[in-house]
Amino acid sequence: MMRKPMLAGNWKMYKSMAETVQFIDDLSQRINKTEQNCEILLCVPFTNIAMGKGSLKKNQLFGEVKIGAQNMHYADEGAFTGEISPIMLKELDVEYVILGHSERRTYFHEDDELIAKKVEAAFRHGITPILCVGETLAEHEAGRTEEVVKRQTELAIRHLSSDEAHRLVIAYEPVWAIGTGKTASAALANEVIAYIRRVVADQFDQQVANQVRILYGGSVKPENIGQFMNESDIDGALVGGASLSAVSFAEMITAVNEVKK
Ligand code: PEP
Repeated sequence: MMRKPMLAGNWKMYKSMAETVQFIDDLSQRINKTEQNCEILLCVPFTNIAMGKGSLKKNQLFGEVKIGAQNMHYADEGAFTGEISPIMLKELDVEYVILGHSERRTYFHEDDELIAKKVEAAFRHGITPILCVGETLAEHEAGRTEEVVKRQTELAIRHLSSDEAHRLVIAYEPVWAIGTGKTASAALANEVIAYIRRVVADQFDQQVANQVRILYGGSVKPENIGQFMNESDIDGALVGGASLSAVSFAEMITAVNEVKK
């Protein structure tokens, strides 16, 4: 299989600029700087992107570790107070942006239609979206997982070209597993992820579906990441809490690098 594994950290609204520099200095002491088998990404607050990139350069980690964003507006510019546009992210050479995270859906009322506009805008500007999908606890208990992830995935990708779609990254994040310490079992996560891949295949074709990377997210940490990475359809992890410590992030990089599929 040709999909390069990805380890992506989501820092949410944590870390000052000074803490970002400290984290990258610490990380550089802990990881092997030559050839990683996986793509390593840190999605930091907007205010830390430029400083984070400078810090990676200083530590010879530039390219080995990438900096991404956690959200973005769909418009190029406009009267949208407090928002950040794809052009602004592009100016900072941001390659990846998390879109549709469950915290955005819940606290900022982002719906599938808005998220679809953001996904399309990201591709238009050459930024790769990490599209988050996942069911709530109530939906999970009602046996609606497949229905929910199908709707979220289909609506977000239906206007993409095949050329765009194959570059997409999807993160399956059951909402009940985010920041709760509860994880989906690796087998269950793999099943849902394989299902999401079928949804992509139905919308495009099997070739596109085989290239789309689909990550698992929800209380991933150094102790459990190996279980997820050993599953056939799981191509990596999107990690919140455990990405805030350079020690545990470095341990997860090692774990992902060791996995051979
Ligand atoms: C996340 O924020 O995307 C996430 C998965 O968080 P956590 O790892 O803390 O559950």
